[in-house]
Formats: sequence, structure tokens, C-alpha cells
Amino acid sequence: MNTKVYYVDEHSDEKIKEAAEVIKKGGLVVFPTETVYGLGANALSEEACRKIFEAKGRPQDNPLIVHVADFDISEYTEYISENAKKIMENFWPGPITIVLKKSTKIPMLVTANLDSVAIRMPSNKVARKLIEYAGVPIAAPSANISGRPSPTTIEHTIDDLMGKVDMIIGGDKCEFGLESTVVEVLDEKVTILRPGAITKDMLEEIGLKVDIDPTILKKPDENLKPKSPGMKYRHYAPKAEMTIVTGRIERAVDYINMKIDEMKSKGKLVGVLATDETKDLYKGGYIISVGSRKKLGLIAANLFDTLREFDKIDVDYIYAEGFEEDGLGLAIMNRMKKAASYNVINL
Ligand code: AMP
Ligand code: MG
Repeated sequence: MNTKVYYVDEHSDEKIKEAAEVIKKGGLVVFPTETVYGLGANALSEEACRKIFEAKGRPQDNPLIVHVADFDISEYTEYISENAKKIMENFWPGPITIVLKKSTKIPMLVTANLDSVAIRMPSNKVARKLIEYAGVPIAAPSANISGRPSPTTIEHTIDDLMGKVDMIIGGDKCEFGLESTVVEVLDEKVTILRPGAITKDMLEEIGLKVDIDPTILKKPDENLKPKSPGMKYRHYAPKAEMTIVTGRIERAVDYINMKIDEMKSKGKLVGVLATDETKDLYKGGYIISVGSRKKLGLIAANLFDTLREFDKIDVDYIYAEGFEEDGLGLAIMNRMKKAASYNVINL
């Protein structure tokens, strides 16, 4: 397939309209959002959405998020609880996806046969214009090959999907760099299924009582049927085996330095996911700082790009420093643990 690539910003109306035509005709368009780049198709067309699964190699039991540009989502849902409305009013447009009871308008393929649908209104203006010009909601997972780190730049999407989609539009690096918070609000009960930039604290600040799905905090039990099907898959994974080292940072640095030496004697290269505070403490290895520990937002925005850089350098092992699992740290560590297949050493 010949893939058109357009560098656009929010004022590139003609090109965004052309992309919207592709969506209307049942094609695939990669587009930017504030979380990660999305691989979009007309959410009301089963045939169009089937192509998303094919292009990504995505398992069919992993549902898609439906992106809208309008607060009126009554056509796509059967019931919108008061708490769901409260979340929409406070955080839409923005990086939070709400799981609601689905209407028959949404094909079963989109929701992987669940009777719920995940809906989000992105704040990215190119994304919203695309949805508006298309005149239909756009189903979109992250625009990467299934299993790889999510794409936070247009180059990442070109690396993964060139030749597999009709069009790629974008240019800017994604503002948040982690996928949206997914929150289930089928009735008035609010449960976070995937942590993201909208944190538990932020949801509690608007007066909600919030549960965190237990699978976020620990490795999901193979026998347990996850509420959010995406939870069970290997995700965000770099090519090299990855280990996260948590606990006192001085100890983590010593341990990683020991590993760098050990691997070097075997002719192997260690990639270190470090921070501004520690990057000069490593002796050898391929060191990348994801940013300063004082700015977790920037660490989130850099994380997937850093994992992809280790792939490019072709390191043999990755050792990563850990972060506190509160606030945005919960979302960062959730992605890192999956990338490391839950390989965590606590010192
Ligand atoms: P991705 O688009 O790759 O970021 O993945 C979207 C994720 O949203 C899925 O992996 C699920 O975890 C979640 N999701 C989508 N639809 C539903 C739903 N109906 N119920 C629960 N979780 C959902
Ligand atoms: Mg994804």
C-alpha cells in the first residue's frame, strides 16, 4: 500500500480534510493525539475497523477506543451515569477514556464482543478536526505494531506502519506520551482500569470515590479474566530483555553498574534507563536519561521514545531505574513493568 505522509498542524485544514475523506471511505489514517499517535478508522464501520487489527497485528479480543469531537455521545451509549458526566465535564477534552454501556450503533468488533464501549474526546486539535471533518467517531488504538512501545512521534509511526495504512498525518511530539487513563463508570462506581495522566487523586478532587483495578498494581493472574482485555498482553516491549531496579536509588545505581561490568566481560552491551540526577554515575553501558525525577510529566513524555532508542542501538539488556508508584508515577511504572514483563528487582 502506498502511504501518504503529511506534516500538519491545527491550521492545515485542507490536508486534514483529505485525511477525513480517507476515513469516510473506510481507510486507515494515523493521527496525533495528546497521549500517543492513534491508528484510526470509522468506528461505525466493522469493515473499516477490521483493517486496524490487521495493520497492527492486534489480537481481536483487545477492544478499541472510540474517539469523539462532541460531548453528545448518546448515540453510542445506552446509559451515561452522573459520575461519567462529571468526569466528562471536568476532564474532556483530554487524556481520559470512559467505559460505558454500549449502544447497537457500535460494532461488536470495536468492543471485542463486550457490551461496553470505551470513549474519549482528545484535546489535540488536529485529532478533533479530523473527527469533525470525518463526521463519524474514529476508533483508534495506538499506532504501533502490536506489542511495541506506543508511538509518541510521527517518526515512530512511520517506522511501524509505513505501507500498511493509507495516510499518516502529524508532526508534533505527543504532549503526555502515555496512553489515556481508562476509567470504567458503567453505573456510579468508578474504577481505573489503566492509569494515565488523569490520576486517582485528580478524580478524587472532583468528589469521586475511585477504585483501582487490582491488575494495575500486580502482575495479572493468567487465569483471571481481565476487565480490560488489553491488560493481559505483553505491551510496550523493547527488543532487549528489561529489568527494573527499585528501592534506594544509590543501591540501584551500584547494582546496575555491577551488571554493566558483568555483561561487558561477556561482550554484551547494557542500556540504562537513567535520570538526570543519576546519569553521570554510571560507568560504561549505553546511558539514556528519561528526564529529571522532579518532572515526572517529562519522564512520561520521553519513556516510549527512550525504549525505541534502545532498540535502535540494539543493546543486549536494559536496566531501568524505578519510580514511586503514586500520582503520575503509577502510570509510568505500569508501562515500564509491562515493557519489562514484570521483571522487577527491589533492593
Ligand atoms: P490502546 O488503544 O492500544 O491504547 O488500547 C485501548 C485499551 O482500552 C484496551 O487495551 C483496553 O484495555 C481498553 N478498553 C477499550 N475498550 C474497553 C472496554 N469496552 N472495556 C474495558 N476496557 C476497554
Ligand atoms: Mg496500544
